[in-house]
Amino acid sequence: MRKKKELSCNNGQIHDTIQTMKILKNSINVDGFLRKIAIAPKNVILLDYDGTLAPFRKNREKAVPYIGIREILTKLIDLDNCRTIIVSGRTVKDIHALLNLDKYPEIWGCHGAERITSDGDYTTIRLPSETREALNEATLAMRQEGVWNNCEEKYSSLALHWRGLPAVEIKLIKTRTKKIWNDIIKGKDLTISEFDGGIEIRPKGITKGTAVEFILNQYPHGLPVIYMGDDFTDEDAFRVLKGKGLSILVKSEYRPTEADIWIKPPDELLEFLSNLVRVFGENNEKKH
Ligand SMILES: [Mg+2]
Repeated sequence: MRKKKELSCNNGQIHDTIQTMKILKNSINVDGFLRKIAIAPKNVILLDYDGTLAPFRKNREKAVPYIGIREILTKLIDLDNCRTIIVSGRTVKDIHALLNLDKYPEIWGCHGAERITSDGDYTTIRLPSETREALNEATLAMRQEGVWNNCEEKYSSLALHWRGLPAVEIKLIKTRTKKIWNDIIKGKDLTISEFDGGIEIRPKGITKGTAVEFILNQYPHGLPVIYMGDDFTDEDAFRVLKGKGLSILVKSEYRPTEADIWIKPPDELLEFLSNLVRVFGENNEKKH
């Protein structure tokens, strides 16, 4: 059964219906967490892009955000008591192009291997030469296999996309690519991971989980941290956040997950984010 949560602070001044949501883990004190965000001096919200802020499209380049998301992001960016970060498997450049905003939030692309602050400072994680060489090898193999048009070359990885292809064809290129890439990564610090609509070869130590770890380490005294995502790659982040924040699966249909809560896009997602904006905004005003 989906449940309605009330968000209220100690003095009862804020009484916002936060959303309808499905609480998946009995161990999480959602009420306590929501009260905490209403009074916290700063919150961190990490958002996946594809499937979370934007619906899937056959053509990846057309995956623009749900209506209302751009406005919500713009408001979140303006709040100085909220640090908003988009964490995606896509490149920073890709996310910028799809969001098409006047002002951007902090973005961590390629699962955190490249980062750009809201002020435009761009940094990347240094990749060992062995990783570079393996990625070059994987690139060459995909060209030879004749599937280069389905590939996306990123700073720290190579992704093969099959969104929209017939099931028979997907099975074929998936099996073939897995075999080739498995040979390439043998004995090396790389991994092959599946995501919704494709497969990717990338360094082992760079995941959305390590991105969350990095954030948590920046705030040793603790801050409310929320992570929202839909994909298998978001499960790494959910696991790291366990007991340390609120993890939210954003998906139309339920699937087994490590997340604390499940909400459906776009309506519940927009309601949840709008309420966060309001609560953060009210708290921010009190500070000034
Ligand atoms: Mg996603």
